[in-house]
Amino acid sequence: MNIDGVISNVNLNLARKWRSKSFDQIIGQELSVRILKNSLYLNQFFPVYLFSGQRGCGKTSTARIFAAAVNCVNLPEFQKNPKNCVLPCLECASCRAILEGNHPDFIEIDAASNTGVDNVRQIIESSSFMPLIGIKKIYLVDEAHMLSKAAFNAFLKIMEEPPESVIFILATTNSQKIIETVKSRSLQLFFGSVENSRLEAHLKDICEKEKISHDNSGISAIVSESQGSVRDALNILEQVRFSASSVTKISVQNILGHIDDDSLIALFECLLNFGVKDLLNCIKTFKYELFSPQYLWKKIIDLTRDAIWIKHGVLPNDSVEYCEKINKIIKKVSFERLNYIMLLFYENESIFVKTTEKHSMLECLFIQITKKNDVSNKSGASSAPNKVSSAPEYDDLIEYVDEDAQECGPKIGSVNNLGAGQDLQASYYSEEIINPQEFKKEPSLISKNNLNKNEKILKEAIKDSCEIKSKEHEIWCDFIASLGSVSDPLLNSIFSSGEFVSFDRFSGILEVKFAKKFSFFQDSITEKEKLWMPILQKLYSQDITFKPSFTGDDKVSVNRTSAIRISNLEKSLGSSVNSDSISKSSKNIGSGAGSSGNYPGSYSDFKKNNSYAYGKAKSKTVDLSKSYAGKSIDVSDVATWKKANTILKYFSGNIVEFQNN
Ligand SMILES: [Zn+2]
Repeated sequence: MNIDGVISNVNLNLARKWRSKSFDQIIGQELSVRILKNSLYLNQFFPVYLFSGQRGCGKTSTARIFAAAVNCVNLPEFQKNPKNCVLPCLECASCRAILEGNHPDFIEIDAASNTGVDNVRQIIESSSFMPLIGIKKIYLVDEAHMLSKAAFNAFLKIMEEPPESVIFILATTNSQKIIETVKSRSLQLFFGSVENSRLEAHLKDICEKEKISHDNSGISAIVSESQGSVRDALNILEQVRFSASSVTKISVQNILGHIDDDSLIALFECLLNFGVKDLLNCIKTFKYELFSPQYLWKKIIDLTRDAIWIKHGVLPNDSVEYCEKINKIIKKVSFERLNYIMLLFYENESIFVKTTEKHSMLECLFIQITKKNDVSNKSGASSAPNKVSSAPEYDDLIEYVDEDAQECGPKIGSVNNLGAGQDLQASYYSEEIINPQEFKKEPSLISKNNLNKNEKILKEAIKDSCEIKSKEHEIWCDFIASLGSVSDPLLNSIFSSGEFVSFDRFSGILEVKFAKKFSFFQDSITEKEKLWMPILQKLYSQDITFKPSFTGDDKVSVNRTSAIRISNLEKSLGSSVNSDSISKSSKNIGSGAGSSGNYPGSYSDFKKNNSYAYGKAKSKTVDLSKSYAGKSIDVSDVATWKKANTILKYFSGNIVEFQNN
């Protein structure tokens, strides 16, 4: 009776039918196989083997083959002449018993359903009996990580002094969960995911033997979905075989709920270049809800990642046609925008995993992305192309790609026609578009009603002191001024110390630099986001990703701005302010650090008033005292802060620095 004879009377699925039965049939895993073969050749066996690795990579099959080899009648022959001897022979009584699953000395235990300590005690008891037909009794504990801690501890005993005739094989997909004491007593073999080319060859081989009609693209589609797992690949192959007459890319995509590549690229183009209406039309056209949202999620990230590569002149894969398509789509798209899309997906990943309405959630994200196209199309879209063309690598790539693209340029499905509706589209949304210019003309829009006279004066002082470089920078200054409407002096002080770095309209990323010493206020900024973020978003009229960095020089901009501001405040308010407590700071512009030794009391005051310290500042007592000795004092010094607070009671505004003397 041959092997096929054994199993031909049962209809096995492909994964079981084509399970490896000898070392040669194991796909990949060369190192593990070599170690086991050497162990057999030298007749030296470890009492415990630990096979770890991802699912469907051959751990259980290898364990069975090894068990068969250990008890095979050919073993002595193999040890004399390893090259010309087949091991396991698969023909002797022992080998056949293992193939049929009824070998008395090979015991398979599924730890997932036998997790308790009693099961392990049973194993330990039975292991003391001699093997019946083989030379070793072999226990295969599958999913070993599922064993309870008590069970593991019970195992430890027998692992320390195992009977000569027993071998344990623990197989696990999660070796992290195997306790260290067990690991250290076992020989650990790793089973990695199988290389794509090996898996492809294996699938093609099976298709030919099973007479399954197939083409290369179909096989590749299966392989790329199986993530190196032979079993997963065979299971997909089986599903496709029963659902279609041939294994092609389309039949595989249908089974897996995957959208075809052309529709996917059309969707990607919509996201980057068209408006919300076009996007919704596109989604409607390809019956979006029929496809796996997880796959769409992954694919859009993949496409964006590839686009970033192409933008930097590196081709992400060998398909020139694919790279051409992507390159055409991203011509007018900045790197920042692509990066924004990546971040948007990653930021929402945990929600996406949890939600039951994955399609809707994905659609929301898509709309959020395309809505920016509406805004930029409407406002003239002047900044984006400039940004793009300044990247030299990108230009080079366009040159390289365009030569071919003119002749065989890909036609991208239905979406190319969508551009026509764009004007209509833009007007559709025009009501929602808030022109930032309007804010510029009237920066006090938000706080108009509650701006009192003093706030206005402070605001002017701040505006005067800001070096205005761009509209975005100007809006930032407006924001600082508008913070007067939020009665939070700490927030005011922190923000007005910030130095505008950059703002990107497309990604919405606003970068602001603060002095290093303000880094412990970072939490305060985040905690109070509800107070200031709406103002910021309203002024910039879009969603903002606020990126503070605390890398600034301790003196940069902070003192300069505030010094001017306070001297203006002093001028404007005259004697109504207690001028003793506000320094004659104008003399210190740009050279605050030079005035040393003027604050002998600051450290002791700070300690005395420790209970007054704000949040994390409290724990930084020593650092503060060191860095502040002999320097101008800012709000993080509590002694001064008390006085500052008194002033702020009367004048809601921003004080960042003043001197004590
Ligand atoms: Zn045999």
